[in-house]
Order: sequence, then C-alpha cells, then structure tokens
Amino acid sequence: MRFSGKNVLVTGASRGIGASIAKVLAAYGLKVWINYRSSYEEADRLKKEIEEAGGEAAVIGFDVSDEKAFVDAIKTVIDSDGELSYLVNNAGITKDKLAIRMSVEDFESVIKANLTSAFVGCREALKVMSKKRFGSVVNISSIVAESGNAGQVNYSASKGGMIAMTKSFALEGAARNIRFNAITPGFIATDMTEKLKEEIKQSYIDKIPLKRFGNPQEVAEAVAFLLSDHASYITGETLKVNGGMYI
Ligand code: NAP
Repeated sequence: MRFSGKNVLVTGASRGIGASIAKVLAAYGLKVWINYRSSYEEADRLKKEIEEAGGEAAVIGFDVSDEKAFVDAIKTVIDSDGELSYLVNNAGITKDKLAIRMSVEDFESVIKANLTSAFVGCREALKVMSKKRFGSVVNISSIVAESGNAGQVNYSASKGGMIAMTKSFALEGAARNIRFNAITPGFIATDMTEKLKEEIKQSYIDKIPLKRFGNPQEVAEAVAFLLSDHASYITGETLKVNGGMYI
C-alpha cells in the first residue's frame, strides 16, 4: 500500500478494531499514535508489539469526549512530528436500551462520545492538514447508521451523523487536498460484540450472507485503503464492510 504521509493518530486503539487498524497501518510503514482512554497496559503492549515487528508507534492517552484533551493531543503530535498526515476517528461506545426507557442523558452521552468527538477530531485535523495541503481522515461509523437497530436509537443517531458530517467535511477539505471518508462495519468480533448474548449473536450470523462476523483486520485493511494514495480520488464516500448484511 502506498502512503505519501508519514504518521497517523488512531483513536480508541488500545483494543478491538482500533488496535487492528494501528497494527495494519504500522505494517504499511506509518508511525502510529495509539490513543486509549483507560487501557494503558493494552496500548503499551500494542506499541511494543508494533516496535518488535519493526514499526514505529507512540502511546497517547486522552478521552475523545474532552475537547481540550483532543486538541492538546493533536498539538503533541505536531510538536513531535511536525505534521499529522492521517486521522482515524475510531473510538466509540454503546449504551443500548429500548427508546421508551432511554433518558436524554443516555442519548446525549453516546452522541458526545461518538459524534461530537469525531467532529473535534475532523475539525482539528482539517486545521493542521490545511497547512501542508495534504491529509486524509477515516471515520468509523456503523452498519446501524444505514439499517437502524432496535435498542440503539442513540448509537445509530451518532453513527448516522458521522456519515453526514463526513460528507460535509469532504466538501470543506477538498480544496486543500484533504479527504474525508467513512466506513460502516457490520458485526465484527471484538469486546463490543462479545457483550451480546449467544442467541442474539447467532440470530445476526443467520442474517449475514457471508455467515460469520467480520474480524478487525478486515476493517483495518479497508481503512488503510481509504487513507492511502490508492484512494486519492475518493472523498465523502461511505464504504460498507459488513459481509453483505446490508447492501
Ligand atoms: P471496543 O472493542 O469496545 O473498543 C473500543 C475502543 O475505544 C477502546 O480502545 C477504548 O479505549 C476506546 N474508547 C472508548 N471510548 C473512548 C473515549 N471516550 N476516549 C478514548 N478512547 C475511547 O470497540 P470496537 O468493537 O473495536 O469498535 C471500534 C469502533 O468501531 C467503534 O466506533 C464502534 O462503534 C465501531 N463499530 C464496531 C462494530 C463491531 O461490531 N465491533 C461494528 C460497527 C462499528 P479503552 O480500552 O481505553 O476504554
């Protein structure tokens, strides 16, 4: 995979899809900034794993819901490397509940953690990438942004907002050669889906044409493609990685 840029910040990279994105991008030669919120040990273990494989990585702990912390983290990257070439807004949470039992707090906290945080990341990336007239951002949305899902009114709203926001950022970034794209993973085997009851998991698998959950690396390779020079004419796009579950 060909990359003109040199470094990437991946939010929520201590576990799951984010950790896989970090490993894949490091293997393609990028210096990876591994963000975590509370799992320092996992993030540090991942850094060592990347370095042992011959890659370059740094660990950066902050809560993406904290605007100042996110802005400061991007400054730290710039102070260290002189630029931020790529950003992956991957950190995300769920707080599932049927809508009739969902409080405004349950709703807004997921919007803040998933959507507002991605807005701050995109905004700061656009500012710093504008100086070099180069950059690419991938936002990790979800299949439920496209299909809806009972029990996930808050989560699906946050992920649907991400797709619309990505298109608008793409229009604002294009004149400066900064691309913004989104990925909508289907059901991927991580801690997030491990929480589901066995019978619920099986009912989802029955609905997936490829008859299995995806693995994090399959999402990571799609992220790498969209960030890379191979996708240099793709912006504002949403790429489904869902085993055919929603076409
Ligand atoms: P996961 O296994 O639960 O891991 C979540 C990651 O996000 C962890 O590294 C966690 O860090 C980090 N994180 C959460 N809140 C954070 C915050 N406020 N600040 C910084 N980091 C934070 O999740 P996943 O399954 O890999 O999901 C990754 C992304 O893909 C999410 O945006 C999710 O919505 C999306 N997605 C997942 C699936 C799926 O089936 N798994 C499907 C569609 C979309 P700590 O370990 O430090 O808490």
